[in-house]
Amino acid sequence: MKFDKVMEYQEVDTKLYALEQDAAKSQETNRAFALKQKIQSAAEQIKKLQAEAMDLQNSSEKYSARVKDIIKSLEEIENYIGEIEDETEAEHYIKMLGNMIENLEAIEKEVGRDMSKADDISNNYRKTFEQGQKANAEFKTARADYEKMIAAKADEIKPLKAKLEKLAKEIEPELLELYKSLREAKKLPAFVRHDMTSRQCGRCFMELPQDSLEKLKKPGDWTECPNCRRVLFISDK
Ligand SMILES: [Zn+2]
Repeated sequence: MKFDKVMEYQEVDTKLYALEQDAAKSQETNRAFALKQKIQSAAEQIKKLQAEAMDLQNSSEKYSARVKDIIKSLEEIENYIGEIEDETEAEHYIKMLGNMIENLEAIEKEVGRDMSKADDISNNYRKTFEQGQKANAEFKTARADYEKMIAAKADEIKPLKAKLEKLAKEIEPELLELYKSLREAKKLPAFVRHDMTSRQCGRCFMELPQDSLEKLKKPGDWTECPNCRRVLFISDK
């Protein structure tokens, strides 16, 4: 009698557990989960692209500072050009101009490289963004399907839960506590009828030590299996 209610509880709860497992494994759940991951990876990709764009912006600021310097030097040369007095001086300015032109060409090349990099980034960004949006829309549909499936299951789950709640009040708190912790560890059935002639746990089949067997002598006795922690009990009816 001592274990009647907990066994009844276990029977109802096993049905509930199976429903929960079904829901967790269902196609709807998997699909929603896969899409969620797709969205997450698109978001990560966008973050990466944003960081790359930021780098480009920094280097373009550096270029414009360099170009500004060159323009300033050119202005200075322009001011002096009328005052050139000899060939050596002229050669000096011509050399300076040559250097500046080289510098400008180098910057132009680097900017060109950066421009095509910027194009790549923006293409990638647009593509990733579109993928993310598509995944997002698909996710919404998948989530709706999932919720519909859960709602359908809720009709089955609700009466089971109500029954469990009622039964819980009639079970010794210590036994209920043990049951719940085993359920949490996905060890179902949690309560296992022990046959007094056996020396093994009826579930994991481990040979029980003497002190466990000592606790399983008469109807109403119970103990936890030292291996799988399940509650072994001697039925009292
Ligand atoms: Zn066991």
